[in-house]
Amino acid sequence: MNSNFSELRLDRLTRRFGLANKAQGAQVFTALDGLTMNIRRGEFIALLGPSGCGKSTALNCIAGLLPVSDGGIWLDDTRIDILPPEKRGFGMVFQNYALFPHMSVAKNVGFGLAMRGVSSSETAQRVKRALDLVQLNAHADKLPGQLSGGQQQRVAIARAIVIEPPLVLMDEPLSNLDAKLRLEMRAEIRRIHKELGRATIYVTHDQDEALSLADRVVVMKDGVAQQIDAPHKIYSEPANLHVARFMGYRNLLPMAVRQTGNGTVRLEGSGLLLTGRAMQPLDGSALVAIRPEEFDIVAEPGDNSFPVRITNVEYCGHDNIVDVSTLAGMKLIVRTTARCQVGDNVLLHIAPGKVLAYPDDGSVSP
Ligand code: ATP
Repeated sequence: MNSNFSELRLDRLTRRFGLANKAQGAQVFTALDGLTMNIRRGEFIALLGPSGCGKSTALNCIAGLLPVSDGGIWLDDTRIDILPPEKRGFGMVFQNYALFPHMSVAKNVGFGLAMRGVSSSETAQRVKRALDLVQLNAHADKLPGQLSGGQQQRVAIARAIVIEPPLVLMDEPLSNLDAKLRLEMRAEIRRIHKELGRATIYVTHDQDEALSLADRVVVMKDGVAQQIDAPHKIYSEPANLHVARFMGYRNLLPMAVRQTGNGTVRLEGSGLLLTGRAMQPLDGSALVAIRPEEFDIVAEPGDNSFPVRITNVEYCGHDNIVDVSTLAGMKLIVRTTARCQVGDNVLLHIAPGKVLAYPDDGSVSP
């Protein structure tokens, strides 16, 4: 496939599975439902969501490992969802590395080229270039078992990129590594991606990984893309309550909508009166989402501030996770670097732009 493509187009990509069910006969389950997006050359896309949301199904459909049930995949003007995986020629990196244990690092990396009939001298050159890129040339003659987990994953990346694919697909490549190595490899993957300039689609359930690596993040739930956006938008302007919940908006407060105007909204409930942002059209009631780290502890009362009593403090090193209760007994979670103790009465302030109001889905009781 053309490595110099300008756009990969996913058009209503859908995958259904037939499930045999003794009680009800055959049932159809939609694991991926109408994923539509364009991916530009050199772009890094993260598919993010909880287990079972359809991330791997989407990746496997793009790779050609799973046939699509509906919709199409286009690389510029070429329809590719009808092609077998080897004709698409995408590089794949899996969670479990999938290296051949009895082959040296160099042989593992060169395997795909040998299968494609590339001459041994060209293979040697390209393997060297790929191992240079992942900084493993000193280990070319070792067996995978003689390498650390992070090094094995770099071999898998070298093997995926040595074929010079138009697109690199990665399915949770860092989940078998410990926390420190995961951070190091995250930086490595970003560097390799930049140097290579290829489009990458990266599956993860880890928000930090998606936000730090990707140019755009696709947040998925039940097979449906909920939001496709730049990381800072996903983080600070979740499109709906599902994305807000998944991105760590742990405080969800049912409040009445008193007044709306120009994107701002006046909200009232449980003794609080707050100005916030309407994230979707609202009628009489809203579920308000606030991240624990967005509160400030202030000295003077003012707009969007209210008194609370501290009921629990969990020390986390850099900051504390603090449970508080409002005068009306509403419980909130606050992350703060301020020193505080159980029983303290403090004033909390929240900036109006950090109070996000969504239509109330009834999931939180007042
Ligand atoms: P994980 O991170 O756990 O791999 P995921 O988001 O990648 O999750 P998928 O593996 O894409 O999720 O699965 C999406 C849904 O499709 C799940 O409910 C899964 O059980 C279902 N599914 C996947 N493969 C099949 C299959 N071969 N037959 C039936 N259902 C399947």
